[in-house]
Amino acid sequence: MSKPTPEEKAAMALETRLMLAGRNSEETFGFVNIPPYRGSTVTYPDAKSCLSGKNRYSYGRRGNPTSEALETLWSELEGAAGTVICPSGASACATALLGVLKAGDHLLVTDSVYLPTRTFANNVLARYGVEATYYDPMVGAGIEALIRPNTRAIMMEAPGSLTFEVQDVPAIVGVAKKHGITTLIDNTYATGVLFRPLDLGVDVSINAATKYPGGHSDVLIGLVAANAATFPAIKKTHGDMGVYLGPDDVFLTLRGLRTMPLRLKEQGAAALRVAKHLAAHPKVKRVLHPALPSCPGHDVFMRDFKGPSGLFSFILDAMDDASVIRFLDALKLFGMGYSWGGYESLAIPFDATTFRTATKYAPEGRGIRLNIGLEAVADLIADLDGALGKV
Ligand SMILES: *Cc1c(COP(=O)(O)O)cnc(C)c1O
Repeated sequence: MSKPTPEEKAAMALETRLMLAGRNSEETFGFVNIPPYRGSTVTYPDAKSCLSGKNRYSYGRRGNPTSEALETLWSELEGAAGTVICPSGASACATALLGVLKAGDHLLVTDSVYLPTRTFANNVLARYGVEATYYDPMVGAGIEALIRPNTRAIMMEAPGSLTFEVQDVPAIVGVAKKHGITTLIDNTYATGVLFRPLDLGVDVSINAATKYPGGHSDVLIGLVAANAATFPAIKKTHGDMGVYLGPDDVFLTLRGLRTMPLRLKEQGAAALRVAKHLAAHPKVKRVLHPALPSCPGHDVFMRDFKGPSGLFSFILDAMDDASVIRFLDALKLFGMGYSWGGYESLAIPFDATTFRTATKYAPEGRGIRLNIGLEAVADLIADLDGALGKV
């Protein structure tokens, strides 16, 4: 076997490059996978390298071959200059925001943002002198009206992970560039396989790799990928704060990533079939799936994304707790649990009317979010139909 040249690799499909990335069989004695390198101390070979601090690895917290393999793979997937690893998706959002903001700055955040990102901005960033304003996810180029002289960053998320509005990322980035503002996006829904924000000029792409990269509901991890202009600031903040994730969780994520494109394809197609079925069901008021016209931002989704992943919501044609409880308790294949992106299907109730501040969210029915796993679609549809019969 001979090695593909860098030029040959660059010409290959993303799926192929993902199978090759972060592997070096000469360094792993021919074994296919890099093992979890456990270690705090790294010893230097001689006094000269110790005095100069010049060693490939300096200290466990600063990186090891396992973390480096994941960083390489993820940067390849997102088209980034570099990636840092954080101990959760929430920690990745926090690290990225701290990396680009300072006291006195103003931050624009989408009203559809992941709730703990909102609470981080309101509780922690506010305490350090950063003010956040929330914007309508459908604002598009109209975001220009919200920009102040001290606006430093815009935090997007597309689609929102409960309500699924799809933002016009290129329109927002166009305005941000005009004003020298850094743009960040929580890209957990799509991963770099279905959407590559950095290709559209976004500076920082964040992923709760707990979801699809991990893929098996057994690891918490966050990844921050950034372009050449922004990566040094993020890397420095990550290092200064002592952020670190143990090698076993990094190993599990690398393992999950090798099958992620396949899982996304399967779960994305299955979720769309389930969504179409629910859209025609008399007990369902509305389906919020970005590949269906009933979802705000559907046209933008069809323009910018390669396809849907396996998460969407629907609105029950019922307003009362009793109906929601009867529906959820009747499900046999959908577990009730937060998080998503795993191989097993999940259903959770949500109420976005309680925390929105920039937009009024009035769904006229109770919201249920589904994670579609790898079970057979016919079984999932039969399970949902049975439970909807109880509403
Ligand atoms: C789950 C999630 C996060 C946070 O990830 P954790 O690993 O649970 O901290 C961030 N953003 C989105 C969109 C998520 O779904």
